[in-house]
Amino acid sequence: MTDCTPSNSKKNKIAIYGGRPKKPIWRFFEQGEEIDKGHYIAICLACRQTFRPGKTTAMEKHIISNCLKVDHSICEAVIYMVEAREREISSGANIKRQNNDQTILEDFYESSDLSKERKEDIDTALIKAFSTR
Ligand SMILES: [Zn+2]
Repeated sequence: MTDCTPSNSKKNKIAIYGGRPKKPIWRFFEQGEEIDKGHYIAICLACRQTFRPGKTTAMEKHIISNCLKVDHSICEAVIYMVEAREREISSGANIKRQNNDQTILEDFYESSDLSKERKEDIDTALIKAFSTR
């Protein structure tokens, strides 16, 4: 019977791609020579410039401002990627300060003569801002 495919083949495939997940910037770089255990040279897919392992920030910067051959849409994608990550970091910091902000907001609500609808709008906007990931 051939319809009983051994599940081993699937497992092996996963094993090849297993290990530490690569940073998203690696979508635009090729894995080059292994210079240390598990650390590879990164080669820019557009201009073939090489980067030493662990230099993902330099790789991002290269695509955003230094690469002469990279496609504009790829550049945009990397900018978006970096911005999204920074937004995540700063929103994380905001959550930690949330208690202070909460007090400031309560004061603001009480002292202001905003309409109930307007306050609800602000509430909704704030909930969205804090829940965005
Ligand atoms: Zn390049």
